[in-house]
Amino acid sequence: MAKKALPKTTKKPSVKKALTKARKGKAAKGKAQPERAKADAKAVVGVIPPMSAAQIEEAFRRFQAAEPEPKTELKYVNPFTLLVAVVMSAQATDAGVNKATPALFALADTPEKMAALGEGRVRDLIKTIGLFRNKAKNVVALSHKLIAEYGGQVPRTREALESLPGVGRKTANVVLNCAWGEETFAVDTHIFRVGNRTGMATGKDPFEVEQKLEKAVPGPYRRHAHHWLILHGRYTCVARKPLCERCIIADLCQWPGKTVLQ
Ligand code: SF4
Repeated sequence: MAKKALPKTTKKPSVKKALTKARKGKAAKGKAQPERAKADAKAVVGVIPPMSAAQIEEAFRRFQAAEPEPKTELKYVNPFTLLVAVVMSAQATDAGVNKATPALFALADTPEKMAALGEGRVRDLIKTIGLFRNKAKNVVALSHKLIAEYGGQVPRTREALESLPGVGRKTANVVLNCAWGEETFAVDTHIFRVGNRTGMATGKDPFEVEQKLEKAVPGPYRRHAHHWLILHGRYTCVARKPLCERCIIADLCQWPGKTVLQ
């Protein structure tokens, strides 16, 4: 089957050229915060035009060229400590979690050691992290469950992961992707925003965005897609004032609030 030609705006420029072009883009005059908020609200209900398949492929080609091997920024030493770090990262920043976990993991890098440490001690070690009481309770409870039901190993299926205390769909997706190499899309606040703004995967909730990414992300990019989108949302397409002038996919992005005119 003949390959569909890229639309004019998505001719394959090099990442360097795309970046230069984005940087030179005329800054729009009046994209004040209220306008950007309105644009975000529109994006969530799918009013903005979707990115085409060719545009999505081109976006990932550029993400890959800029960062071939993206990784989670959470510190961990094995699948168990990854699971614990992801549980700790709910409503907290990776940087905040990374400040507390090295001391915890030095004492407990297996479910057995974590269970032996006990809830009170875990709570003391992670008290700089938001919701630490509940997180300490969940981490110790999930350690007991791993020992009792999974031979002390982190399971490789979504169902088993989601049965653990404090583990929801997003956490299971991160563990499946980072520990076990599955092509999953863990939609956090950054991916939700980037998916909606760009028109790559619009949706009113994370699950809808995840389902659209499942369908839209081309094969070669599926393994690392969620990291590229998180990094893009964390450092470029930030919530309040996205850095459109240095965005490498600005010409592909469909968001009416973007501050670079192409
Ligand atoms: S152009 Fe702006 S809004 Fe669009 S993806 Fe880039 S940073 Fe985000």
